Amino acid sequence: MATKLLLTFAICRLIVTVGLTLDPTELLLLGVDGILSVDSTDVETASLDFGRVTRAAPPLAVLHPASAQDIAQLIKAAYGSGFGFTVSARGHGHSIGGQAQTANGVVVQMSGSKRGPGRKPPQPRVWPRERYVDVWGGELWIDVLRSSLEYGLAPKSWTDYLYLSVGGTLSNAGISGQAFNHGPQISNVHELDVVTGMGELFTCSTEQNSELFHAVLGGLGQFGIITRARISLEPAPQRIATQNFCNIPVLVIVRTEEEKYSSFMT
Ligand SMILES: Cc1cc2nc3c(=O)[nH]c(=O)nc-3n(C[C@H](O)[C@H](O)[C@H](O)COP(=O)(O)OP(=O)(O)OC[C@H]3O[C@@H](n4cnc5c(N)ncnc54)[C@H](O)[C@@H]3O)c2cc1C
Repeated sequence: MATKLLLTFAICRLIVTVGLTLDPTELLLLGVDGILSVDSTDVETASLDFGRVTRAAPPLAVLHPASAQDIAQLIKAAYGSGFGFTVSARGHGHSIGGQAQTANGVVVQMSGSKRGPGRKPPQPRVWPRERYVDVWGGELWIDVLRSSLEYGLAPKSWTDYLYLSVGGTLSNAGISGQAFNHGPQISNVHELDVVTGMGELFTCSTEQNSELFHAVLGGLGQFGIITRARISLEPAPQRIATQNFCNIPVLVIVRTEEEKYSSFMT
């Protein structure tokens, strides 16, 4: 009860501050299994990206979902609301154009909900015989790799930097050196669970609800929120080689090449 009162107070205060017309009871009535937070640290974090490059006006609240149903409930409330409010999915916040932020709405914090109290999203489930893994949309690729390595398997296509969320990179493309062999990460997904803009939960694949499947993969988070992805696996390599290039010599090479070729131009 005290939490509800505090939440009502904080939301009302924000409404006064930013002149919003959202009825706070709409959010309070949700009764999610996860946590709907107006904690200042949560709200501040959700108004920034990971590198603190872009700062948006703070959201009204942050949802740490425990399940796809939590997200469906929130989006249904936004869709059906007389006043309306915006909802944005945030993975690990590494996009730097404010794509994962929303002012005056609710940010769904997909990654990191495993900390703190309350129910948590599902853990990765590896299917060793079928060679795929089912993961929560906010799972970080590093954790997908850790889970699959327990079975001697690894995702076919990674990102070079693994502290990005599954939903975040599947909304773009997900590229690393392995993309030359297997294509980007969006080409290595069997199936998705997606909550659409009307708050409906669909399973989609190339066979089932294929339009939604192809729209969501690389869809910049505009066609729905990915709550589960079935990722293709292969036997983990026993050895890998990495190469790092420093940007400065590369720039020098590019400039030298430009100068060389400019002499051929008239
Ligand atoms: C240090 C660094 C290294 C990087 N390395 C690589 C790399 O090696 N390969 C590569 O391909 N890219 C790389 N990127 C780019 C990165 O893939 C994108 O910025 C990606 O969107 C970040 O993922 P995120 O989990 O932080 O997503 P966020 O930045 O939180 O979200 C990105 C977009 O996806 C949407 N979104 C988030 N979660 C979901 C979801 N569950 N369902 C639907 N939409 C969702 C958001 O609303 C937003 O529009 C790198 C970026 C950084 C900063």
